[in-house]
Amino acid sequence: IQGYILTLLDGALEDETINRKYLERSEKSIDRLINIVNDLEEISKLESGALHLQTETFDIVALAREIADATEMEASKKGITLRVGHSATAPLQPIPVKADRRYIGQVLVNLLVNSVKYGKEDGLTKIAFIDLFDKVMVEVSDNGIGIAPEDVPRVFERFYRTDKSRSREMGGTGLGLAIVKHIMEAHHETITLRSEPGKGSTFSFTLPKA
Ligand code: ADP
Repeated sequence: IQGYILTLLDGALEDETINRKYLERSEKSIDRLINIVNDLEEISKLESGALHLQTETFDIVALAREIADATEMEASKKGITLRVGHSATAPLQPIPVKADRRYIGQVLVNLLVNSVKYGKEDGLTKIAFIDLFDKVMVEVSDNGIGIAPEDVPRVFERFYRTDKSRSREMGGTGLGLAIVKHIMEAHHETITLRSEPGKGSTFSFTLPKA
């Protein structure tokens, strides 16, 4: 950012062929910086134990739809379809759960954004709900690039990224899944990952039914 701005101040500002390009690059970098600061702030709050859950009863299906709608624009750029429920047609009943709605929303955002970032063109991301007696399991699955078996246990570590060069191209901070893991631990619930390289990944977490 500093390099581009100094170059602009040194005279590039008057050069019509590059001034806009340099401003756009600076803007993109500032956007990344904001994401990094936000993620670092979130993770330091979570790791210092300053996270206080505001538990309430809400419909996890409605929340999943809300987050899917918000991610749709990003997904459509890659031709990825986001589907809430097992099939495109069967209507879903509400599933009331007891959890922190805002933080579970953040978990869904991080998982959906990853499914798009690491999904394949014209792919499919599904959010499914599995009834487990007193809990519900929420599954976010994609048919994207997948994760190698040796990376699976490590992707929840902070700053861990499987393919350094490709991940850097994708933006992101390597903190998204660490944040997800912290949020699920604060709820005393689990999150697991199954994945096959080239086939896709499935992240599953549980929540107590209300
Ligand atoms: P970021 O996406 O910012 O790198 P995350 O903590 O969200 O950080 O993810 C860590 C790493 O796990 C990613 O860099 C990527 O290598 C891998 N990953 C996460 N989600 C997926 C997914 N759905 N499919 C394939 N790889 C994934």
